[in-house]
Amino acid sequence: MNVLLISTYDLGHQPFGLASPAAWLTEAGATVVCNDLAVESLNETAVKDAQMIAIHLPMHTATRLGSQIVPRLRALNDSFKLCFYGLYAPLNAEYLESLGADAAFGGEYEQLLVDYFRHHVVPASEENAPFQSELSTGKQAFVVPRRTGLPALKEYAFLEKTEGETVTVGYTEASRGCKHLCRHCPVVPVYQGRFRIVADDIVLADIAQQIDAGAKHITFGDPDFFNGITHARRVIDAFHTKFPEITYDVTIKVEHLLKHADSLADLRRTGCLFVTTAVESVDDRILDFLDKGHTRAEFVKAVELAREAGLTLSPTFVPFNPWTTAEGYLDLLRVIAELDLIDQVSPVQLAIRLLLPKGSLLLDLADIQSAVVDFDAESLTYPWRNPDERVDQLQLAVQSIVETGDRDAESRHVIFGRLWEAACQACGIAPLQPAVKAHGWTPRMSEPWYCCAEPTSDQFSRL
Ligand code: SF4
Repeated sequence: MNVLLISTYDLGHQPFGLASPAAWLTEAGATVVCNDLAVESLNETAVKDAQMIAIHLPMHTATRLGSQIVPRLRALNDSFKLCFYGLYAPLNAEYLESLGADAAFGGEYEQLLVDYFRHHVVPASEENAPFQSELSTGKQAFVVPRRTGLPALKEYAFLEKTEGETVTVGYTEASRGCKHLCRHCPVVPVYQGRFRIVADDIVLADIAQQIDAGAKHITFGDPDFFNGITHARRVIDAFHTKFPEITYDVTIKVEHLLKHADSLADLRRTGCLFVTTAVESVDDRILDFLDKGHTRAEFVKAVELAREAGLTLSPTFVPFNPWTTAEGYLDLLRVIAELDLIDQVSPVQLAIRLLLPKGSLLLDLADIQSAVVDFDAESLTYPWRNPDERVDQLQLAVQSIVETGDRDAESRHVIFGRLWEAACQACGIAPLQPAVKAHGWTPRMSEPWYCCAEPTSDQFSRL
């Protein structure tokens, strides 16, 4: 039986979300083809030959793109079983069913895909099984992801280690889910405060095969690398012992950077090049609404601790949300400048507008309910407006500045200067910039879209 696994977008990584289920389904007897539409064209032969096609939806962008491809698949083959899987599949089950999907699986989806394959694809009889939507956070015994057949690592986002020095990157996950309950986070409606670890030997074997394929740096895509600190420490120690020349990056929340401050030097010692940390806001009131588990002062402390340990922090933000004020946005820029973080913040992070997908816990808050309008089936989000029209206008101006700056390859300082001017204009004050220091190059990935965003017209046109 032929199974085609499709990814449309995975933040510039060779998709773990294809490689892992490919291994499970191969073990279950399927002949698996992987097709990553982010970097290659649709494999029409594989579509025509497939008895089951499963599309990976790890985030909003992929969900919008993944749903667009369905008519093209059906035009080539009208008899395959269609599944969607990943974080956003069960959250959008109703919509996916309306597209003709047979199943939507979320959380720990590998076993669910295998079960579906065994019970609904292998037997020839079950033509009209009812739509199945299932979410599992149960423990799985992971197997080593199967990366053969995927595009080469050099086709994906690379690390710009120093100015002009680029490095091939691999990607793996040492855990999935999260033990925290931040209200804006899409992990929460699915995992509800749980996380699952991938066994050390599987993680290391996956890293080893990517190093064999040319990776010189590994991104750990765990929602929070320090959710299981003992596991995390074991993984980095074993990783560094086995591959002392290879660097890596991780994502760790501010709360964990403080709680496990004694591990930061070990991150540096074992080759951690930078830590992405989801700060979201420097306004304590907004952080409280988001239930982020840290304050502005704790973020400042985390910056200090990381510097002491010689670690580069790459903060991420959701600067535009229904609580944002023009003055608050200017304050965020001021904090970034005062902490000498301009080189460490990707400009796109200063333009992010909060997305409210189905299942968002923020929808429980009265402030959000009064800001949103009806669910938009096309964008798969609840559109919202800021109570102050100036802020929505500022967001559009900021987005345009960031896009233009990125396209023209301007430095982060130049883009920051324009953002500062736009924010001052929105506040009706003179654009006197704070004194800033340029620290030179900080390591960064070439893929600037770190989080969920609306797909670009270029992404749609590639489908
Ligand atoms: S710590 Fe990160 S991954 Fe975990 S719930 Fe909060 S935002 Fe989501």
